[in-house]
Order: sequence, then C-alpha cells, then structure tokens
Amino acid sequence: MVAGPEYYFKIIGTNKIAKKISFVRYYKPWHWMIGTGFYITVFENKLKSKDKELMAIVSKRNKWFLAALILSFGLIISIFIYLILLFLNRINQYIKRIEEDDRFKQKLIYMIPNPMFFSDEQGNILECNEDFKELFGLDEKDNCNIPQDSLRRIEDKLKEILKKSKKEHTEIPENIEIELQLEDGIKSFEMYISPLQYKNELSGYVCIIIDITEKKENQEKLYNQSIKDELTGAFNRRYLKSLFSAELKKAKDKKYKISLIMFDIDFFKKVNDTYGHDVGDKVLKKVVEIAEKHIRKEDFLFRIGGEEFVIMLAGADKNKAYHIAEEIRKDIKSYVFEEGFNITVSFGIAEIEEDDTLDSALKKADKALYEAKNEGRDRSRVF
Ligand code: GH3
Ligand code: MG
Ligand code: MG
Repeated sequence: MVAGPEYYFKIIGTNKIAKKISFVRYYKPWHWMIGTGFYITVFENKLKSKDKELMAIVSKRNKWFLAALILSFGLIISIFIYLILLFLNRINQYIKRIEEDDRFKQKLIYMIPNPMFFSDEQGNILECNEDFKELFGLDEKDNCNIPQDSLRRIEDKLKEILKKSKKEHTEIPENIEIELQLEDGIKSFEMYISPLQYKNELSGYVCIIIDITEKKENQEKLYNQSIKDELTGAFNRRYLKSLFSAELKKAKDKKYKISLIMFDIDFFKKVNDTYGHDVGDKVLKKVVEIAEKHIRKEDFLFRIGGEEFVIMLAGADKNKAYHIAEEIRKDIKSYVFEEGFNITVSFGIAEIEEDDTLDSALKKADKALYEAKNEGRDRSRVF
C-alpha cells in the first residue's frame, strides 16, 4: 500500500476544503486499484479537542500546586516582614533608651551642685558638668576627655577600682578618697561612685566629686588638738596612754628597746615668781623646742604635767637615752633668755621591760628623776 501526498479536498456534502491523505493498493490478479483516504483536518481537530481535555486536567492539578506555592511564598514574606518589624522595634527601643538616658543624665547634670561626670562601663569619662570643668580649670567649650593630669588621675583611679572589683568579684566601694594636685595646691576629694542601670543592664557610672580639703584639715586640727598640748605643741598625757601599749608591742615584735626620759624644770616656781607667768610659759615653749631638736621623727615628746615632760625613745637602751638626756640638759642650761637668766633641768631615765605597764615605766623614770633632784638637780640619773 502506498500513501499519497497530502492534498486539499472538499468535504463531501459541505463547501469546506480540508487537508486530506489517501492510500492506494494495486491488486495484480485482478488489475484492480483500491484506494481510501481521510481528512487530516478532522483528525487534527479531534486531537486538539483531546488536547484541551488534557490541559483542563493538568491545570486543575496546577491550581493546588500554585495555591501551595503562593501560600508558602506568603508565609516566607510574612516572616520576613515580621523580622523587619521586630528589628525596627528594637532600634526604636534602643533610640528611646538613649534619649531617656540622655534626658536623665541632663537632669542630673543640672541638679547636682557638685563636680560630676558620667563614665562608660570601663570608667572612661564621657560627659561632665560645668562644676567639673571649673574644678579642673577646663574651658566651657572643652570636652571632658582632654589630656589634663588631674583629670586623667581621676579616670585612672576609677578604672583601677572597677577593674579590681571585677577581678575580685567584690562590690564597688561607694566612695573613695583621692588627692589631686590642682592649680591652688594639693586638695583632698571624695568621689562617690554609683552604677547607672537601664532595664537591669549596666550602662556606666555616675561619679560625684566632693572637695573635703577643709573637712580633712579641720579633722586633723581637731585630732592634733586632742593629742597635743596647746601651749608647747608637745603631745599630751592622754596620747602617751593611747600610744604606749602599741609602741611596746612594736618594740617587742621587732626586738628593739624603748627608753623613757622624764625631766622637770628645776625651781620653775621661782621663774614664775620672778619674771611672771608669761615668761614662765615662754620658758616651757623653749624647753620643748630645744628637746625636740635632739629627738628623731620616731620618738615622742609629751608634756605630762606643768613643767614635767617625758620623751619616749624607740630603739634606745638606757645608755643611749642617758646620752640624749645629757645633750638636752646641756643645751637648755646654755640657753640664755632675753631677760638674762638661764634654767636647769633634771632628768630620770628608765629602760622599759617587756612586762612594764605605762604606770610602772613612769614610776621607774620618776624614781630616777627624784634621785637627780635629790642629788642637787641639773643632772641625769638612770633607774
Ligand atoms: P623643783 O626643782 O623641785 O621641780 O621645783 P619647782 O619649783 O620646779 O617645782 P614646783 O612643783 O614647786 O613648781 C612647779 C611650778 O610650775 C608651779 C606652777 O606654777 C608652775 N607651772 C605649772 N604649769 C605652768 C604653766 O603652764 N605655765 C607657767 N608659767 N607655770 C606653770
Ligand atoms: Mg620643777
Ligand atoms: Mg614638777
């Protein structure tokens, strides 16, 4: 059978022209030719309608796929938007926090009538008030982190404290004392340190500085007044009492001797009677002045009575003490007062034993002094 070429032919019973193909076969015994044909267009139309049916089935399945795709895409977009909103919200909160923090700091800066500053968590100075700038001789326009010695010392001190408390897991001290060299001399300050927290998170420190120079000077003055004799400046009997046992213990621990020199002005009553009480006072002061020249920083001179004194010598046995007493005695004797008289002094020396009390030690020195007086005054005697 042979297929002929495609051709166009009229569809029987209509006026439409369609594509057609024919097949022919030759039967040799009968010399017949049998042929048949069909319209390709009809076949193609049928194919097209099947195609449409198929597409309908496929597109129905695609809808579900598409829906799933859109849904998951939507979900991803929503999560993305949610994350962006979350992020923006955090930024907003952060900005608000900074603003609140700033407002808080500004309020503090103007409220506190003392030099103050803010630092970060490490102790670096960030901001300060006018009083702070004035204290350190800074210009109003200056910021607080210029390299000025005293200012850096404050910052270093704060850093050191923060570092130490972090390392040792201890609380930061509420206040510390610091001495600073300023334009008008060395001054003492108290620095109050207070952590700044925002929502339980440490955001830095606020430090207030208080000048305690005057307070300290007054304290020192009061303390000196309580331990010293007003007229001569020598230490008083009260101080001898409070000092004695500690000094004795120190000597015992470090294995050195302590000796006492007790001395009393000879016939002092006569000085008062002859030249008056004021001259007597002057004599008392001079005696202290001369005696002090012969003792070291670690020794003490006490006025224990009207014209009675005690020197406590650290690291001196009775022989050394005797020599010192003699030097003082000679020095006082050779001093001529402007009224034209001189005085003499008697000395009693005692070396302190480990089991001595202040009373027993004073008694020993007093006995030796009594001896010196009895033997004619103007001399030193050892117990
Ligand atoms: P002696 O050699 O025995 O020590 O004789 P003295 O005259 O020094 O001893 P006495 O105890 O008789 O006299 C001490 C005098 O010291 C009596 C007192 O008026 C005087 N006196 C005590 N305290 C002061 C003082 O603060 N200023 C003056 N000017 N005199 C004082
Ligand atoms: Mg006397
Ligand atoms: Mg006396």
